[in-house]
Amino acid sequence: EPILETQDLTFTYPDGTRALKNINMSINKGEKVAVMGANGAGKSTLFSHFNGLSQPTSGIVKINGEEMKYDKKSLLKIRQKVGVVFQNPDDQLFAPTVQEDVAFGPMNLGLDLNEVDKRVEKSLKMVGMEGFEEKPPHHLSGGQQKRVSIAGIIAMDPELMIIDEPTAGLDPQGVDQVLTILNHLNEKGMTLLVSSHNVELITEFANKIFIVHDGEIINEGSTNDVFSNH
Ligand code: ADP
Ligand code: ADP
Repeated sequence: EPILETQDLTFTYPDGTRALKNINMSINKGEKVAVMGANGAGKSTLFSHFNGLSQPTSGIVKINGEEMKYDKKSLLKIRQKVGVVFQNPDDQLFAPTVQEDVAFGPMNLGLDLNEVDKRVEKSLKMVGMEGFEEKPPHHLSGGQQKRVSIAGIIAMDPELMIIDEPTAGLDPQGVDQVLTILNHLNEKGMTLLVSSHNVELITEFANKIFIVHDGEIINEGSTNDVFSNH
């Protein structure tokens, strides 16, 4: 059953750059999916459509079979279902402390403070960052910042988590930690969509791959299909 689909999704930036051209993709519940492609291929632009941050120039995006709408109320609902972790932690971590940062999403969902606190505690534990509540995010290492960003999304309890370059800039230990977290979340039922440059990592992690080139999907399939099909 698809959790996310696009139909002829096309997106042109105001300066005329055609970043996405007729993207048709479908992701089923429970899958671990990767989008691969060179810098500038369109991965970030694509992901920005999946939580309604960007609106297609033409074509549609469907979440759980329902066409995405862009009014405030619909967007709030979408962000409960779809969480996006941006590549650059600076785009995500802006609160003075880790605690406040992770609390930001669930607060925005309008949850009561008790529930917010519970979720923050649980999420930080899940990513191995308990004890860092009072630290300013900018004093953490890259790997720790990535894990706090992920905790902020976990705290919103989305059905689908999208992560732009989950392991970029991390040392091997950081890569292992993040992948362990992602696999754990997937085992608990969360659908995952990541972008990556790292073929080795993707072969190990994803069960489905889309290759994006110049705004188009040029190949897709299981990891084996895609990497033996040259
Ligand atoms: P990524 O790490 O996803 O490849 P980029 O380096 O392509 O990201 O882009 C970094 C930032 O610069 C993004 O916010 C993107 O929207 C913006 N950007 C990229 N290319 C352009 C461009 N040609 N004109 C304006 N902004 C751009
Ligand atoms: P990727 O994430 O795969 O690196 P992007 O989605 O960032 O690719 O970029 C896709 C294309 O859109 C590139 O040609 C990039 O230069 C362009 N682009 C990205 N952001 C902007 C922007 N804000 N304005 C104009 N062009 C952009």
